[in-house]
Amino acid sequence: MLLILFYMSDRRKFVKLSFLSSVALLAGKNLFARTAKADGEFATVKDEPVVISTWDFGKAANAAAWEVLKTGGRALDAVETGVKVPEADPDNQSVGYGGRPDRDGKVTLDACIMDENSRCGSVACLEHVTHAISVARMVMERTPHVMLAGEGATQFAFENGFKKENLLTAKSEAEWKAWLKESKYKPQNNIENMMPGGKLNHDTIGMIAMDKKGDLSGACTTSGMAYKMRGRVGDSPIIGAGLFVDNEVGAATSTGVGEEVIRIVGAHLVVELMRQGLSPQAACKKAVERIAARNPKQAKEVQVGFLALHKSGKYGAFALQKGFSYAVKNGNVEQVFDAPSLF
Ligand code: ASP
Repeated sequence: MLLILFYMSDRRKFVKLSFLSSVALLAGKNLFARTAKADGEFATVKDEPVVISTWDFGKAANAAAWEVLKTGGRALDAVETGVKVPEADPDNQSVGYGGRPDRDGKVTLDACIMDENSRCGSVACLEHVTHAISVARMVMERTPHVMLAGEGATQFAFENGFKKENLLTAKSEAEWKAWLKESKYKPQNNIENMMPGGKLNHDTIGMIAMDKKGDLSGACTTSGMAYKMRGRVGDSPIIGAGLFVDNEVGAATSTGVGEEVIRIVGAHLVVELMRQGLSPQAACKKAVERIAARNPKQAKEVQVGFLALHKSGKYGAFALQKGFSYAVKNGNVEQVFDAPSLF
């Protein structure tokens, strides 16, 4: 019965679920005892906060977000607080301060945020400001627009109190100079595979949270693909590609080669698949399969990962390649999981 109830998605059934839940609580029974499974297929219940985010470093970000959620704070505040942790970390070379630069040595940041009312804000190619996510939130709250890009985004940030910073750390600068010696630039997806050591390096943080009221919000922030063309914008600041939140259904975020995610409007697709009744993991898998079907040969060489949270509290993830991990924090789980993958 529990399983069936977790799969229910439409409004009428949610009312029924809430009613049954109240009856059970009144009867002194916790019908929906929280369960965590290694595959993350269901982990928490409606009205219990949960936060999930991409990659191992999501664990520290989740811990910061949890401080907001556990005291009844809003999911929007939680995701902003959470992703600011990797943004400020100089050792994280794919997000915020210390991020790897573009091919011209400039660190440019992409970020977006979306709340339970479908309000959203975004910045693309933002320079000189560590907390791109906070600038994105200001775009949402202080302008009639959704997205500001390039110089306009940076100017907006300064006008709203952000101080000019140098985001290029000595470590990222040294690596960029080493890359410049060969600078085998291809204006396509897999440039990061060509980093010294052939290391795959896709480290955007995408975070989704549900607060005590059952409201969802999400945030996504990155310095994008290392050594990208000047002006290149990935999926991460694009509402519907790198992040999408629908408070009636669920939310999704992505990491990996942004061009592939944009082509299928990935995060929106995952949410729509959940609306049709797929579990978060199954929805992420279907989106990944769509990327693979478009170009099966190329799909074997690039990484894309999706992470999703259903309104019921279920979460799941799926990636093209092995190696994508995601972190979960709720009342009884604080863990990093390896996402299943197509290859
Ligand atoms: N999705 C990001 C981008 O394409 C990069 C990443 O997640 O590694 O800019």
